Amino acid sequence: MKKECLLFMALVSGCSSQVQRPATPQLALNTQHVALGHQPRINSIVIHYTVADERRSLELLTGQKVSSHYLIAQYPAWHRTLPEVYQLVPEDQAAWHAGISAWRGTYNLNKTSIGIELVNRGYTSSATQETCQVYPPSQIQALIQLVSGIARRYSIEPENIIGHSDIAPLRKQDPGPCFPWQQLASRGLGAWPNPALVKTLLAGRATATPVSNEVVIPLLRRYGYVIDEWDNPEQQQQVIKAFQMHFQPENISGKADQLTLARLQALLLQYPEAKE
Ligand SMILES: [Zn+2]
Repeated sequence: MKKECLLFMALVSGCSSQVQRPATPQLALNTQHVALGHQPRINSIVIHYTVADERRSLELLTGQKVSSHYLIAQYPAWHRTLPEVYQLVPEDQAAWHAGISAWRGTYNLNKTSIGIELVNRGYTSSATQETCQVYPPSQIQALIQLVSGIARRYSIEPENIIGHSDIAPLRKQDPGPCFPWQQLASRGLGAWPNPALVKTLLAGRATATPVSNEVVIPLLRRYGYVIDEWDNPEQQQQVIKAFQMHFQPENISGKADQLTLARLQALLLQYPEAKE
């Protein structure tokens, strides 16, 4: 009897295990047949910096044009033992943080991601110097708490905890080369190439030996970076730089070397390849 149990029957007969309370009470909702083809609406976390102080960041992110689900101050206020984090958009709503974006076969990540902004001056580069602002430990501690909760709630895979520069490498550089991706990965949050595997893959080759774009670009595609066939060498260099800002902060020249290649190869062995 229980298998045939529909909602209206549940209400009158008490057979309640097969049915859910419907959002529309006028319907008898049968939930016995669950499709195999489905996935959570939220499947990635995108990390940003604001290039503005806390007050200005709040103004910008609560206006009409851009928003994010969360904002973390450079030095978060503490409530007893808990760091304060601003929630600006509920998680069940889309925030406007990603813009034109793509990652691992998914486009327009506003629809499928949670966006987190960090108050930080950001990364700048010129012909003569490059600067980025170190993220204070208390800000990263709050971020780790936040990301671990989100990742757990939506079962987000490590390779889908990413930066704005990963999903829009030709437009964006945040969260920049000062962001501690390796530290997050050591807490089980996000991907990182296994050092022993990287060493094996290097097989004694000098890490700084150049590697051509022709070798690296197809592997970047397989890992998840979306690169158009018609992207020119400068654009390819920007994608390589985005990868390096995430996985090889020692060299963010945009020119691939043997260490770039070995870390990329390690990631492809450790994590699933991107869908086409
Ligand atoms: Zn951003």
